[in-house]
This record gives sequence, C-alpha cells and structure tokens, in this order.
Amino acid sequence: MELTLIGRCLCGHVQYRCGAPLAPATFCHCESCRRAAGAHVVAWVTVSADTLVFTAAKPVEFNSSRRVFRSFCARCGTGLTYRREERAAEVDISVSSLERPADIVPIDHIYMEDALPWDRPGEGLPQYPKTRPVD
Ligand SMILES: [Zn+2]
Ligand SMILES: [Zn+2]
Repeated sequence: MELTLIGRCLCGHVQYRCGAPLAPATFCHCESCRRAAGAHVVAWVTVSADTLVFTAAKPVEFNSSRRVFRSFCARCGTGLTYRREERAAEVDISVSSLERPADIVPIDHIYMEDALPWDRPGEGLPQYPKTRPVD
C-alpha cells in the first residue's frame, strides 16, 4: 500500500495530503529557513510535487529567494512547503506540519555553516556545511 502523509497548519485552514517521501528527511539550519520559520532549524521531507493535494484552503506562496518559493497559511502563518524552480517535480514539506511528525525521522543536518553558535546538535547525526552530499 502506498504511504500517504497528511498534515495541516496550526489553525487548520490549510490541510494537505501527499505521497511517500522520496528521500529521508533532513534538518535545515540555513538562514533563509530560520527567518521564514522564526526558528533555528526546520525539518523538511521531500515528496513528489504531483502527489501534493490541498484538501481545504491553499497556502499563500511567495518567492523567498532566487527561484525558491515557500508557502504558509494566510491565517495563522505556519510555514508549510519549500520548492525550487529547477526541481519542479519535487516539493519539500515541513515535517512539523505533518499530522504524525514522529513517523518521519530526519537523518542529518544541512547548512550547518549558517547555524547559530548556540545551535550545535549533539545527537550524533551527520552534519554538512551545505547540502547533503550526493553519493
Ligand atoms: Zn493556519
Ligand atoms: Zn534551509
């Protein structure tokens, strides 16, 4: 059976479902995620863009940096998605907006070069200065 993920914003105005992760989730410590979320780290999981369906209101999307679009709930502000123009088939979903976030376990930390001095994860997962290396 194909895994379906469901999620929502804090107020429930925006609700979605999407297909199974295309890759394991990551913790992003970049400055852009930090400012967008108002939090020092954001957990993201990548899913196929054509599986993502908004089942109540749609989020508002904005151009957060060159060729990057982030979305959030217009009512409560919860950050929900991240996508890049050059990888149009994929979209990142905020793990914390999932109905069952504990099911999706991040495996590493990316953009540690942007992490704040007091943000030094100690649980032993791999940490990369920029993106996850392609193997
Ligand atoms: Zn909301
Ligand atoms: Zn980021």
